Amino acid sequence: AASGPPIMVNSCTGKMGHSTAEAVVRAGLTLVPYSLTGQSEAVAVGNVGVSGIPVELVGPTERQAALDRIRSRYPDLIVVDYTLPTAVNENAAFYCANKLPFVMGTTGGDRERLAADVAAADSYAVIAPNMGKQIVAFQTMMEMMADRFPGCFSGYSMTVAESHQRTKVDTSGTAKAVVASFNKMGLQFGEDEIEKVRDAEQQIARMGVPERAVDSGHAFHTYTLTSPDGSVVLEFKHNVCGREVYAEGTVDACLFLHRQIQSGADKKLYNMIDVLSAGVMR
Ligand code: NAD
Repeated sequence: AASGPPIMVNSCTGKMGHSTAEAVVRAGLTLVPYSLTGQSEAVAVGNVGVSGIPVELVGPTERQAALDRIRSRYPDLIVVDYTLPTAVNENAAFYCANKLPFVMGTTGGDRERLAADVAAADSYAVIAPNMGKQIVAFQTMMEMMADRFPGCFSGYSMTVAESHQRTKVDTSGTAKAVVASFNKMGLQFGEDEIEKVRDAEQQIARMGVPERAVDSGHAFHTYTLTSPDGSVVLEFKHNVCGREVYAEGTVDACLFLHRQIQSGADKKLYNMIDVLSAGVMR
């Protein structure tokens, strides 16, 4: 296939893993036809199709032997991890022990330990809880605005509403981060004031979520800021349907990491802002 690195996606049986594996194929890169997954699935399912490519599932007990074989065939492979918060640290330790460069999209786990393990192993990695390039760019822009113009909205009031599929119980992490920036711009807004919209009717009528995205996955956010006398209103929105934006950003992160490795970069641990700052988006 293309000039980029071969990419192995763990786990292709998950929603994000599958979507990312499809994005790898779409980008014309080589999808390594193996995927590390939970033991029960590896035994019960065996393999999973990604855009017509049969991908063999490998459970934890066989993974070291399998990786040794995979690596002799794909020496410069890059690993993507979209598994579960409970697997984050153990998987990262495995990648580090094998000096495998990896892109960690999975959230949760012990994040400090994760960073420390990568540093100790001197491994190359991109770690980012949000791989959606444009959303990360927006979030970073709000942080920059807060640094540059502290207190610019003092006296203003704000409402924040976020909508996600009904299975998401916690408040959007992105909304919390953006609220923190607005607070530096002079608002006094509590995280508990963020409205979580989880009712399908309201999602469609109030937030404008397309019906097909109500249950299949969406991340809609609206921040409305109003001046004390009501004469000025600013509204910021970032609305995502589906998972493609994260999957595509993950492919960019792999290409970025591959370039850093090829050039022998001294810095080895990166986040999505590093990927964006490199200015080499497809
Ligand atoms: P999912 O439940 O659909 O998939 C999880 C997969 O991990 C399953 O296939 C499961 O079998 C597999 N798994 C479990 N234990 C494993 C192990 N020990 N080793 C290997 N595989 C194992 O979940 P999802 O919706 O795909 O989300 C996965 C993660 O990605 C979550 O942490 C989610 O918050 C995060 N996420 C990140 C981004 C981002 O942009 N970085 C975007 C969306 C979701």
